[in-house]
Amino acid sequence: MIRFLKTLVFLALISVSSLTLGQNSMISIKFIGNCGIYMTDGNTDIYIDFPYKSGAHHYMEYDSSELDSVKNNPVFIFTHKHSDHYSGKLVRSLAKKLDGKIYSPWNIKKLLKSGDELTDFSIEAFKTKHRFSVNHYSYLITWHNKRIYISGDTGNAETIASLNNIDWAFMPVWLLTDANRKGINLKNICNMLAIYHIGPGDHITKKDNDDSIKLLDKQGEIITIPY
Ligand SMILES: [Zn+2]
Repeated sequence: MIRFLKTLVFLALISVSSLTLGQNSMISIKFIGNCGIYMTDGNTDIYIDFPYKSGAHHYMEYDSSELDSVKNNPVFIFTHKHSDHYSGKLVRSLAKKLDGKIYSPWNIKKLLKSGDELTDFSIEAFKTKHRFSVNHYSYLITWHNKRIYISGDTGNAETIASLNNIDWAFMPVWLLTDANRKGINLKNICNMLAIYHIGPGDHITKKDNDDSIKLLDKQGEIITIPY
């Protein structure tokens, strides 16, 4: 009987540890609004193009609870500083309160070195075009060997066309339109396309059977990438 109990305890321990491992082995990405996403692997908490000014340029608003739920030691990364992507006031106060780091095109060299501090993380930056913005970057994040492309606001598909083997690419629909016009097949480059920065007046649809495109029209939606 005692041996049987020991075995049971042992089995229970195994299942607990594999459960913990299972939970850690994924990157989870929450869509907050516009190009604002929250990515975590359970250890590091990365916010991209968030916080922005809620409702700026008639794009998505978000609840103030999004600001309250930002984790300790956050890493903030911005593609550019238009107010529908970035709020200097909000990000500085969050970074101060929570001991965070802020990266943007203005300290790109520091951003490229951020991988030295984060686990199994590296980032490449590509200067990309965006109207009325002198400094706009798109990013390729490699995290736990998963390649995640963050397009930001750019409408030029050449940069992404020069890459390959992307697991998830986050892009506005106008990048997809530009790629189609130029005969670039993004599906050869990216396993999954997430379309973000959908405005209230945009009516974007996709084919029902097209599982390689995810429309981020619902705030709070979560994408998981197991690794
Ligand atoms: Zn924008």
